[in-house]
Amino acid sequence: MKARVKSSGSLSPAVSPPPASAELFARLAEHEHEQVSLYYEPSTGYRGIIAIHSTVLGPALGGTRFWHYASDVEALVDALRLSRGMTYKAAVAGLNLGGGKSVIIGDSTTTRREPLFRAHGRHVESLKGRYITAEDVGTSPQDMEYIKAETNHVTGLIGRSGDPSPVTAYGVYRGIKACARYRYGSDDLAGKTVALQGCGHVGYHLAKLVHAEGAHLVASDVDPLRVARVVDECQAQGVPPDDIYGVHADVFAPCALGAVINDDTLKVLRVAIVAGAANNQLALERHGDLLEERGITYAPDYVINGGGLINVNAELAGWPPERARAKAGEIYDALLRVFEIARDEGIPTYRAADRLAEERIAAVAKVRRNLV
Ligand code: NAD
Repeated sequence: MKARVKSSGSLSPAVSPPPASAELFARLAEHEHEQVSLYYEPSTGYRGIIAIHSTVLGPALGGTRFWHYASDVEALVDALRLSRGMTYKAAVAGLNLGGGKSVIIGDSTTTRREPLFRAHGRHVESLKGRYITAEDVGTSPQDMEYIKAETNHVTGLIGRSGDPSPVTAYGVYRGIKACARYRYGSDDLAGKTVALQGCGHVGYHLAKLVHAEGAHLVASDVDPLRVARVVDECQAQGVPPDDIYGVHADVFAPCALGAVINDDTLKVLRVAIVAGAANNQLALERHGDLLEERGITYAPDYVINGGGLINVNAELAGWPPERARAKAGEIYDALLRVFEIARDEGIPTYRAADRLAEERIAAVAKVRRNLV
């Protein structure tokens, strides 16, 4: 087994009964995580887990999630799952980054943040750059500043790379064009209809881009003001939130919630392409298979929404904004490659995306082994 659990400080008894413990180590072995670090700091009550899935392509990057997990095992499983996802996302985005993630177990609304996040910073620092952290659910740029007081291995700081959504939206736009090229033989969106779910940070910028190219937009949001802005500025047709799934369109672009491709929505979807920014769009893997069976071209979410990670990388590497945007534009080529693998191997696109990531990681791992 490659995984090893490194415990610093006194670890609270996370898994006492033998069956749970067996399950714990089986989970570590399952996806060959390189390292898991558990840290307990008694004066603050800090309980943190850092999972490093892979450092083959570079230091493991992934945000810190602050969440009231029902159990320590649930927190560990989340860190394992999310860190692996980061490895794949960085690999297909062509970045020199590996995958990691950390979780802090507790009440994310606490006001006693400085000591807690400084404890987390010390935890990150103990890994000496093998793991770089960033913002995630339950944390803020100010929390990253507390971490920064203890370690340099943190990104997403106040006043640095800023709002990633314009870069994410540009990557999604380029991804939609790649889908159109694959599907229609031309990537021109003029005259195509895009059904947009969510007119928030990414959705708004995406609407501007597809509108500028002459696409017709149908837009929805639970916030009427956000739809109104897209209707006004992009001559979109607004529809109530639940109606967006049944719109006859070329593209359905989910930019709001996860799990929107499910048994219920598949019954009403009338589109050729699903391509949007939302994370975890497939409720279950089999919904990816069903999209394929229905002849709907699916742009795997973690490929098409990689612009956010590219923006973080830009901050780390000191890239100017135009370089980040150009890199996000390469999502176009990554998706065409995904579709090619899917066609050649007769597999759904969400599996082909994993294949693309694994190919790159395996190729780089070989170079590292051969040239010591
Ligand atoms: P956001 O919160 O700014 O926008 C989401 C919008 O969806 C909001 O306007 C919200 O009112 C709306 N919404 C919520 N429920 C809805 C529903 N049932 N129907 C229609 N609209 C609904 O978030 P964002 O930053 O634009 O991100 C959108 C999605 O893309 C999220 O899933 C996010 O995880 C993912 N994502 C974002 C980035 C980024 O750079 N911001 C990067 C990668 C992935």
